[in-house]
Amino acid sequence: MDKALTFKHLFGPVPSRRFGRSLGVDLTPFKTCSLDCVFCQLGRTTLKTMERKEYVPVNEVVEEMDKWMRHHPGEASYITLAGSGEPTLHSRFGEIIEFAREYPKTPVALLTNGTTLHLPEVRLAASRADVVKITLSAWDQKSFKSIHRPQSNLKFKQVLEGEQLLREEFQGDIWMEVVILKGINSERDDVLRIAEIARSIRPDRIHLNTCVRPPAEDFASPVSHELLSELAGLFEPCAEVITEFRPDSSSTFTDNETAILDILRRRPCTAQEMAKLFGMHLNEVAKHLGRLTRTSAVQVRSGKHDKYYFVQNAKGNKNG
Ligand code: SF4
Repeated sequence: MDKALTFKHLFGPVPSRRFGRSLGVDLTPFKTCSLDCVFCQLGRTTLKTMERKEYVPVNEVVEEMDKWMRHHPGEASYITLAGSGEPTLHSRFGEIIEFAREYPKTPVALLTNGTTLHLPEVRLAASRADVVKITLSAWDQKSFKSIHRPQSNLKFKQVLEGEQLLREEFQGDIWMEVVILKGINSERDDVLRIAEIARSIRPDRIHLNTCVRPPAEDFASPVSHELLSELAGLFEPCAEVITEFRPDSSSTFTDNETAILDILRRRPCTAQEMAKLFGMHLNEVAKHLGRLTRTSAVQVRSGKHDKYYFVQNAKGNKNG
């Protein structure tokens, strides 16, 4: 479907409101993460860990990046370390950023949950990026545990201190994403507490989001665009509302979405099955499924271990 699909550790470029055409670099096996956020679009974490190691060989990533950049000059507006887990768990992610910097016209972004930033070597490696985007949607240990479900040794205070230290040491841009979930952290007082935490980190930009793609847990529900706009003013700097509500009014599907619909008309599938079938990265599949579910072209139901996507036929029965 796409030339990039032949790569093992790269995906996209994925259109992103924040990063334009973002070439994703995936440095961990599927859902290897220190958190298990209830809103995670990739489903539940399968390996919850704080162990840092070379999860994928650096030489393979670097070779792929070199090949991609030579074949697609100027096509990516950002090289983004993201993917299906926490990139800073990769013990050599700094070397990958360093290599990516050899393409000076393409800035490098690191998307992290911030849980390893208390380690000086992680902050040093992270500071080689042009932009570090952190995600934090809690304000204390209790909310951290219920929203982000961290690895058992992780403390909210430690994460916060790591992020504050990064701000002191890092000259580049820090962007912060806050995910607001209905009834979980959407009360004004909760958001005021998150805003206070955000102020102590002094990010350059704050993005307010909600779970617009099917989340890991059914109880994680989105709030309205209007509420996000109201809450944006509580942050300093004023938050930007980043959701994908608006473009969804279009009924035109991309080629990839049409292919997904064709499969789901025949049988229900999980996102992972579709990623495997199409050779697409799970992040891309999640993005397409988010759009397809929001336009009601595709429905979702929770199985025992996973979510299944299906197309409801005209009589209202599930296919498959
Ligand atoms: S949202 Fe990010 S930090 Fe949270 S579980 Fe998913 S991959 Fe990990």
